[in-house]
Amino acid sequence: MFCKNCGNEIPEVATTCPNCGAAVDSIADNLKNAAEQTINSAEQEVTNAINDVKDAFNNGGQNYVGGPLKTDRSLLMVILLSIVTCGIYSYYLIYSLASDVNIACAGDGKETAGLIKFLLLSIITCGIYSIYWYYALGDRLHENAMRYGMNFTENGTTVLLWLVIGSLVCGVGALIALHIIIKNTNAICFAYNRANGLA
Ligand SMILES: [Zn+2]
Repeated sequence: MFCKNCGNEIPEVATTCPNCGAAVDSIADNLKNAAEQTINSAEQEVTNAINDVKDAFNNGGQNYVGGPLKTDRSLLMVILLSIVTCGIYSYYLIYSLASDVNIACAGDGKETAGLIKFLLLSIITCGIYSIYWYYALGDRLHENAMRYGMNFTENGTTVLLWLVIGSLVCGVGALIALHIIIKNTNAICFAYNRANGLA
């Protein structure tokens, strides 16, 4: 690396510049800063999530209507936030996906189950319902893509295959299934926002 003060090349482990004596950000400082930034943005996401849930309750349990839908979910962010929040974020994701998809796909005669139904039915069915939930969501996104002039190559069966067969390969299949759901939900939400002048 190079000194910010005099531009002299200095060893990666140096804490002060051997040329001019200026203090240097160490690798540990840089890592600490990067970690702090990740945690700060995670905290912001969780705060937003809590506010969304509060909004939903304030609306008498109805989905919040009016604002633009979230279009920037990413698999990496979901994994990081789930780790930071000890798994709580993955439950928020269920709530958030169901809420947004029910708005963007309203009128198709289907309803994506929200978090409470997801949890109760998953417990009763020893987890089978959670697989069905992802399958049904994948299918619903596929069907509604045409309505917004798009075509998703993946449908519920694709999601199901990755979840069930793909999971035999070290669980990687489940991440691919989740990625498909996140990507297609973002696309549907983006199309909804654009169609309603919210983008
Ligand atoms: Zn220097």
